[in-house]
Amino acid sequence: MGIDQGHGPTDPDRLAAARDSMITDQLRRRGIRDELLLAAMTAVPRELFVPSTIRRQAYDDAALPIEAGQSISQPYMVARMTELLAVREGDRILEIGTGSGYQAAILASLGATVLSFERHRELADGALERLATLGLADRVAIRVGDGSLGDPTSAPYDGIVVTAAAPRVPQPLRDQLADGGRLVIPVGPRDRQVLVLVVREGSTWTERRDDPCVFVPLVGAGGWPE
Ligand code: SAH
Repeated sequence: MGIDQGHGPTDPDRLAAARDSMITDQLRRRGIRDELLLAAMTAVPRELFVPSTIRRQAYDDAALPIEAGQSISQPYMVARMTELLAVREGDRILEIGTGSGYQAAILASLGATVLSFERHRELADGALERLATLGLADRVAIRVGDGSLGDPTSAPYDGIVVTAAAPRVPQPLRDQLADGGRLVIPVGPRDRQVLVLVVREGSTWTERRDDPCVFVPLVGAGGWPE
């Protein structure tokens, strides 16, 4: 309907239409049901989080390249990870892998307070700028450095989301979950992973596998060597 998927829209109306199609065709159709999450993904302009040269592809059903050789996750993957986290207003969330800041913006829009780690300073700077533009910077703190072992000083967290691929679930992240807390992390070899959901109930951790996925590597002490 006037939206050319290959070349995509750039003007605001057409971007808004592409955003609506993303909600319907990529998220609802694949089973994302949380209305608050769908509202957050309708409210946050994803085009702000992709390089200006590929802005017209912002709502494609795909991960897209960003600076420093990294990527912004596919919209469905952001939605699925957020749904698994079961974020509620006021939750304290640890994100590992700020990247563009898009996932952090969705979490903040849902009323969470976010601590996000990014190992590339240029990405952290860009993300903070975008979050400030959207009035979300007061809900998100970004730290530059290796976040792969979490941050015990700010623990426990109601949710931990790792947006880079790890060879296994780092033990410190389990320990930093609050009672009832949830950890979502892509686990597997470098070229393909599966989302793993870990839920803590007291001193019991249960684990289940969810969708297959492909993420850039988590590089650091709890991830892959550089
Ligand atoms: N959540 C992001 C997707 C980021 S891609 C978004 O919404 O755009 C994964 C990011 O994790 C990359 O930017 C990469 O630099 C970062 N990363 C990888 N290993 C890391 C580590 N050990 N600590 C912090 N960030 C890391």
